[in-house]
Amino acid sequence: MKRGAYLLLAAVLLVAVAAGAYVYRGELATRLLERAAAQGMGEALADDLPDGLHAIFCGTGSPLPDRTRAGPCLAVIAGDQLFVFDAGEGAAETLALMGVSAGDIEAVFLSHLHSDHFDGLAPLALQHWATASSREPLLVIGPQGASRIAAGLNEAYAIDTAYRTAHHGAQIMPPEGAGLIARELAVPAGSEAIVLHERDGVRVLAFAVAHPPTDAIGFRVEYGGRSVVISGDTVRSQSLALNARGADLLVHEALSPRLNAIMQNAANESGRENVGVIFNDILDYHTSPEDAGAVAQEANVGALALTHLLPQTPIPGLASTFARDARTTFEGPVWVMRDGDVISLPRTGGVERSHRLRF
Ligand SMILES: [Zn+2]
Ligand SMILES: [Zn+2]
Repeated sequence: MKRGAYLLLAAVLLVAVAAGAYVYRGELATRLLERAAAQGMGEALADDLPDGLHAIFCGTGSPLPDRTRAGPCLAVIAGDQLFVFDAGEGAAETLALMGVSAGDIEAVFLSHLHSDHFDGLAPLALQHWATASSREPLLVIGPQGASRIAAGLNEAYAIDTAYRTAHHGAQIMPPEGAGLIARELAVPAGSEAIVLHERDGVRVLAFAVAHPPTDAIGFRVEYGGRSVVISGDTVRSQSLALNARGADLLVHEALSPRLNAIMQNAANESGRENVGVIFNDILDYHTSPEDAGAVAQEANVGALALTHLLPQTPIPGLASTFARDARTTFEGPVWVMRDGDVISLPRTGGVERSHRLRF
């Protein structure tokens, strides 16, 4: 056979294989699901991590629309304890896709009561209840007003709760484990830190940050000689710099004034002045990447992780500008986080980064 005939035969075979794969794609996908489901059900992220402190990025976005980023959420595994700091929209979904079971959550800490930090709370409570047949509601710890939010969400979900217990039975969905239970805290004065949780070598501390008019708090989690500090939402904060001193990792929110100005101009030029005003207003209660870097430098932290990116970053490469700006003021490593990222601080030392989104 001539070379041309071989090529023709190869092309025909290729088309036939592709057509077969297309016709049977549903069957192929079903087989893949069998493997993925067995893995997904059987493997927990925690089983795959060394003893230590782990920052799990379950939401790196903001209230501005971005399909690639869930609302604000950071889960922390400290030894065998799991905490969640803020639960924005999509948080429960992202945690599930990372192999973190909501049924294992000890408490959700709310940094402040802006809705983008708790609008994923109800789905998280539902997962906490359903995945573990929990007999106690999901504990939420936050500033004054957290009880009102918990009560409101419990009421909004009361009909659904009754349906699910009626359908699956009280053994699988015990009614006493549905929803949320809240504990409120008074925001400490100045740069004082208070201990919110202490057990088996794990400490969670809270301190005031500045995000007026809300009562806003930042957190420090310590375990095994390692520490991670979480800014919550804040303008550049001296209290944060003091409480982050010597931490292995500072997780800081960031607003890029340059990118924000582009959004503000676009809003104004298209006649949406009200949106333009909002883009202007948010400048005074968030932190620029340069200032986040300056706080990290002042606190002498081991590394800086930027999250809660404002404005949204839908174009590849855009998020890297946040890191570039922060590097002008911080000499240590700076990372811009994505949903699904994990930063691990093993007891034995060092820092490891991985990406754990399964789908
Ligand atoms: Zn806020
Ligand atoms: Zn926010």
